Amino acid sequence: MVPGSSFSIGVIGAGLGGLVLARVLELHGITVTVFEREPTSSSREQGGSLDIHPETGQYALETAQLTAQFRKVARPEGEEMKITDKHGTVVFEDLPPPAPEDHPSRDEQGPPRGDRPEVDRGQLRQLLLDSLHPGTVKWEHNLESAHLSNDDPKVSVTFARSSPAPSVTFKFDVVVGADGAWSRTRGLLSPAQPNLHRRDIRRHSACIGRRQREWRGR
Ligand SMILES: Cc1cc2nc3c(=O)[nH]c(=O)nc-3n(C[C@H](O)[C@H](O)[C@H](O)COP(=O)(O)OP(=O)(O)OC[C@H]3O[C@@H](n4cnc5c(N)ncnc54)[C@H](O)[C@@H]3O)c2cc1C
Repeated sequence: MVPGSSFSIGVIGAGLGGLVLARVLELHGITVTVFEREPTSSSREQGGSLDIHPETGQYALETAQLTAQFRKVARPEGEEMKITDKHGTVVFEDLPPPAPEDHPSRDEQGPPRGDRPEVDRGQLRQLLLDSLHPGTVKWEHNLESAHLSNDDPKVSVTFARSSPAPSVTFKFDVVVGADGAWSRTRGLLSPAQPNLHRRDIRRHSACIGRRQREWRGR
C-alpha cells in the first residue's frame, strides 16, 4: 500500500492492541482512525499492572519506536516479591532470573534484573495515545454493528454515540477488530464466543492458596 493513498483503515478499540497498530501505521505514513466507546482517555481506571515480555509487548513497543518512553514508566523492580514477618525478616522471596548480558537494564538501573518489567496499564495506554497524531482516536463511538455485503467492497461500521447525537456510519477498506474479549467485530469472521470457565477461576485460586501454604509452612 502506498503511504498517503486513499486506502482507508478503521480500528475498533483504543486498547493496547488497537493503539500499537495505529502508531505503527502512522509511523509508515498511513492514515488510520481508531474508534473507542469510552468518552475520554481518563474516564475509566484501566486496571492493574502488566508484565511486559521481550518477545511480545517489548517487541511491539520496539516496532512502535517507543522503547525509550516505555523505560521511563516501566518498573523493573516490580518483578521482585518479598514477604517479611513483623520483625522484617524475609520469609518468602521471589526474585526474577538475571538479566541477559546485553540487557539495557544492566546499564540504566544498576544491578541485573529480570527482563519482564511491570508497567501500569493506564500509563502504557497513555504513552501510546500521546504518540498518535491529534484526532486519530474518536472517543465515545460505541460500535453497534459491522457489515460486509456482496455489492460493496467496503466494510460498513455503525457507532452509537451519547444522546442526543445520532448513530453514525463509516465505510472503510479495512476494519480491524481490536475491541477486546467481547468483540463485536469478531462476528464478521466467526461465530465463536469467549467462554470463561469456572475451572480457570478455581485453578487461579488454588495457585494463590498453594503460595500462602508454602509461606506459612516456613
Ligand atoms: C487479568 C489480566 C491480566 C493480564 N496481564 C497481562 C500482563 O501482565 N502482560 C501482558 O502483556 N498482557 C496481559 N494481559 C493481556 C492484555 O491485557 C491483552 O493482551 C491486551 O489488553 C489486549 O489488547 P486489546 O487492545 O486487544 O484489547 P483491550 O485492551 O481489551 O482493549 C479493547 C478496547 O476496545 C474498546 N471497545 C470494546 N468494545 C467496543 C465497542 N463496541 N466499540 C468501541 N470500542 C470498544 C474497549 O473499551 C477497550 O478500550 C492481561 C489480561 C488480563 C485480562
